[in-house]
Amino acid sequence: MKSRRDFLHKVSAAAAALPFVPSLALADQKEGKEESYQGPVLRVAICGLGSYGTRVADAMQACTRAKLVGAISGTPSKLKEWQSKYGIPEKNCYNYENFDNIRNNPDIDAVYVITPNALHKPQAIRVAKAGKHVISEKPMALNAAEGQEMVDACKKANVKLLVGYRMHLEPKTLEIIRLRKAGEFGKTPFFQGLCGFKIGDPTQWRLDKKLAGGGSLMDIGIYAVNGSRYMLGEEPTWVTAQEVKTDPVKFKEGVDETITFQLGFPSGAVASCLSTYSMNNLDRFFLNGDKGFAEMWPSTGYGPIKAHTNKGEIEYPHVTHQTVQMDEMSDIILKGKKVEVPLDGEEGVKDLKIMDAIVEATKTGKKIPIKL
Ligand code: NDP
Repeated sequence: MKSRRDFLHKVSAAAAALPFVPSLALADQKEGKEESYQGPVLRVAICGLGSYGTRVADAMQACTRAKLVGAISGTPSKLKEWQSKYGIPEKNCYNYENFDNIRNNPDIDAVYVITPNALHKPQAIRVAKAGKHVISEKPMALNAAEGQEMVDACKKANVKLLVGYRMHLEPKTLEIIRLRKAGEFGKTPFFQGLCGFKIGDPTQWRLDKKLAGGGSLMDIGIYAVNGSRYMLGEEPTWVTAQEVKTDPVKFKEGVDETITFQLGFPSGAVASCLSTYSMNNLDRFFLNGDKGFAEMWPSTGYGPIKAHTNKGEIEYPHVTHQTVQMDEMSDIILKGKKVEVPLDGEEGVKDLKIMDAIVEATKTGKKIPIKL
């Protein structure tokens, strides 16, 4: 059996070659909490105790720098369940009507909004007005104008706003970015992002325009939008896009089933991407350069992420993304830490501007300029 010392040696050797990786978090989670951590801890309430909220809550049990301390829900039975499962005190539990009172609760620093997309903006703004830091799930809002309102509200309230972009902190992703920056792939004129899955239950909120704000692009295609930017290391200046709908009953007006889109970048690089709700096996990033390439497949799922370059496999121990994310977000919020691929509200707005342009391109058939 491997000892903790062996493991830490392996991790720190990897982390030394990998300046972007949140090394402490890597070590923490494989072997339990870092007992020696004495610094500030971000005390978080989760708003929306659904499937992803529960995944985050479970992952937070292994955090050292963030702690789940509160819950906001429209379902009283879930609040009871979370109180006993996660040791959340009754005084830190709220519903959607009374959670503005969180302003009077000195034991909560931040609220992580994990509700359907359309609720992110109004709930985030209420959290900001209550004087608490905001973490919003992706997409942060239904369009760039709404996203900007959130950014402005958080600035006005002097609280931080972060978006739950867990891949921005994922070690293999960061290693590929490091290699690209170090020139390992030479010039990188092409990125391909394929993101999709076959969606089930036609009555779920993800297929309801009012709650989802769209279809696959808002939910899963956002990873390709976002990945194009951090993999190529440039901001796009134009987009073209095409929508295909094979099932107009399931995918109603304004809810896209499949969108292909192409982004153009100042260097001449292009990204060619697919976002869909009607095919499985699509979770792949490919970055091609004139000296080498990187492929990730799976690229954005919960992991283990698999990545290799023209020189071989990228090997790091699997980390629970949400544990790393919450520990790193604690450092960003409480210690002002700067991370390699930012995940603040302004970044979220940039993605929404690109998605607004993609939707416009599908409607008009035109090449739409993008200004970020
Ligand atoms: P779920 O449907 O599983 O959960 C959403 C929860 O929001 C519900 O359980 C409910 O919690 C609350 N809610 C409040 N109002 C409504 C409403 N009108 N309809 C439905 N639910 C409502 O969704 P997910 O957890 O899968 O997704 C939530 C958010 O997280 C989305 O924005 C999604 O994009 C994002 N997400 C992000 C992922 C990532 O990897 N970063 C992965 C999966 C999702 P309660 O009963 O407590 O009120």
